[in-house]
Amino acid sequence: MSLLAELDRSDFAAVGAELHQFAADLYPICRSITGEGIRKTLAMIRERVQLQLFDVPTGTPVFDWVVPKEWNIRDAYIKVPGGDRVLDFRKSNLHVLNYSIPVCATLSLSELRPHLYTMPDKPEWIPYRTSYYKEDWGFCLSHNQMLALKDGEYEVCIDSSLVDGRLTYGEFVIPGRSPDEVLISCHACHPSLANDNLSGLTVATSLARLLLEKDLRYTYRFLFIPGTIGAIAWLARNQRTVSNIRHGLVLTCLGDTAAFHYKKSRRGDALVDRAAANVLAYSGEGAQILDFSPYGYDERQYGSPGFDLPVGCLMRSVWGTFPEYHTSADNLEFIRPAQLAESLRMCVAILDVLENDRRYRNLSPFGEPQLGKRGLYPSGGGESIAQEVLARLWVLNLSDGGHSLLDIAERSALPFQAIHQAANILCRGGLLSPLPEAGDGEVVSSEASQSNRQQRL
Ligand SMILES: [Zn+2]
Repeated sequence: MSLLAELDRSDFAAVGAELHQFAADLYPICRSITGEGIRKTLAMIRERVQLQLFDVPTGTPVFDWVVPKEWNIRDAYIKVPGGDRVLDFRKSNLHVLNYSIPVCATLSLSELRPHLYTMPDKPEWIPYRTSYYKEDWGFCLSHNQMLALKDGEYEVCIDSSLVDGRLTYGEFVIPGRSPDEVLISCHACHPSLANDNLSGLTVATSLARLLLEKDLRYTYRFLFIPGTIGAIAWLARNQRTVSNIRHGLVLTCLGDTAAFHYKKSRRGDALVDRAAANVLAYSGEGAQILDFSPYGYDERQYGSPGFDLPVGCLMRSVWGTFPEYHTSADNLEFIRPAQLAESLRMCVAILDVLENDRRYRNLSPFGEPQLGKRGLYPSGGGESIAQEVLARLWVLNLSDGGHSLLDIAERSALPFQAIHQAANILCRGGLLSPLPEAGDGEVVSSEASQSNRQQRL
């Protein structure tokens, strides 16, 4: 089965429009690592896929961390006494330092200034700042807005609460033939930021819907979680589940116009790393593979040494390197329907490799089988061998039971998709036979299939 072939029959303009509309619906919500904003977001995802929601109470120890108090906010402003608001949370939820403690005071401009965050080099943009683990309060505003503040007194109000509550995350599992799992994880904790947060969320939601009711080799586990603390809390509560994870992807920053970037898992040579490398190699100009680093998104939690899970990160622009990152310019115009749809396609292409990578045996291994008499070689042949035929010859030559289709794609420098198609055609032509793998009906453990392979070789 090819998930990609099925997706390619879709109307991509409609797919992109739906992804962008979902991002637009989620955009106004003031999310954080806890509180009503993330719960409302999860509830909206739940209208599309039946997420299971989990609550972890404040104070719960999770490895070296403790689940923080729950933060909620209703309103915030700075205003001239008796006058209008000069800064208004209702206009942008980025205006408040995320996790600000409540405050209500009259301050001079010089007293207020240490609590104001701006970006002098991008004077029109509002920065996104947080203070999750140090109790503080503050406002974020454009540098121009700050320059316009005249000396004098200001009324400041942050109508928030920071009290014992819970951290909420969502999980959605799609069972496959094998208990071996693919983990798809995205963070859902940023307020009105589109590329960093909503693009990953929306693509992951659509991906989950695409996989529903499919005959899948792997079991898929989708996590919609607050960044860092959410991944750590999930890992702490799921130490047994984790042993089933064979491959994983963190999805983020998938809506802008940059080329794709894939950050390898800590292992560096995991199957998901190789699958992503093959798919990205044929995805157009500029796609890049990045080495693992212990900084970035939640791949660094999954890749902490105690877990060392094979989880990479798929992005377009890389966190921290694009000017719009963590600013008000990461908005709905910055993410595009066509790029969101193409990102969904890229995820499906990577999963297609994982789903279909397996070993085969050439049933006619003595000399090259005569493809022409089976209608598998174009008449004329010779000089310019089409990629299709080349793929068939590579599959036949390397299908000695030891090489998987991805091994063959790498060795032949051909797209996995072409190699997979060739294998299907050769199977139908009676020249190739699949070797048993985990997920073939009765579950074969990877050790069992390994020893199977060794016996056959
Ligand atoms: Zn971020």
